[in-house]
Amino acid sequence: MRKPIIAGNWKMYKSFEEAVQFVDTVLDKIPSNDKVDAVICAPALYLPTLVQVAGESDLAIGAQNMHYENEGAFTGEISPTQLASIDVDYVILGHSERREYYNETDEAINKKVAAALAHNIVPIICCGETLEEREAGTTEQKVAGQITAALKGFSAQEVEHMVIAYEPIWAIGTGKTATAEDANQVCGAIRGVIEKLYSAETAKTVRIQYGGSVKPDNIVELLSKEHIDGALVGGASLQPESYLKLLEAAANA
Ligand code: 13P
Repeated sequence: MRKPIIAGNWKMYKSFEEAVQFVDTVLDKIPSNDKVDAVICAPALYLPTLVQVAGESDLAIGAQNMHYENEGAFTGEISPTQLASIDVDYVILGHSERREYYNETDEAINKKVAAALAHNIVPIICCGETLEEREAGTTEQKVAGQITAALKGFSAQEVEHMVIAYEPIWAIGTGKTATAEDANQVCGAIRGVIEKLYSAETAKTVRIQYGGSVKPDNIVELLSKEHIDGALVGGASLQPESYLKLLEAAANA
């Protein structure tokens, strides 16, 4: 049985005060991490404070991006060493917004995954197709390529500790969710890629989230599907009430 994982991706939202208040509000309402892994990926600026506020609770804090080098002349970047030094648990890598607006390549994402693992930070590796690719029928080909590239060079044991997020780009922030069947089919195809690259056992172990307009009213159906183990959530992770509803649904899935 794979444990569900709900990760909020706050993107470039919230003031410092709002961020701290959110974590304060949800802290004693987070379901036990025996049942669900609860993560908030916040703007980098807030991470040290949020890690401290979350303390020993069942809420884990993650970053939304990082560089793959440990240090160097990379103005404006944040390194895996720096994230590890403040006890960040997760990092989102290869989000479609980073691929599109900051030209992140599969090769860079592969290096970032290696850097995250080297620092005991769990990578949440994103993949997903554009609307044109979906309409052209090349969705599975696209995500298979992204996942194969991201996983290049890792052992089965390493892959088992990663989280993969399937986020169709056309469903992000648009209110258009992929149907649970479509999402499940692509998550199953990703599992198939991992089985081919590694083994059935590894494919069965790795957790795959769906992302794209996930809300309290569609999470239950998504999580009822065989291959969907959680969600990467933008908009609906910004309010404590809806974030907690998503966690409750996952804890009871
Ligand atoms: P929305 O949930 O706002 O569609 O965002 C999805 C996303 O990009 C999470 O990483």
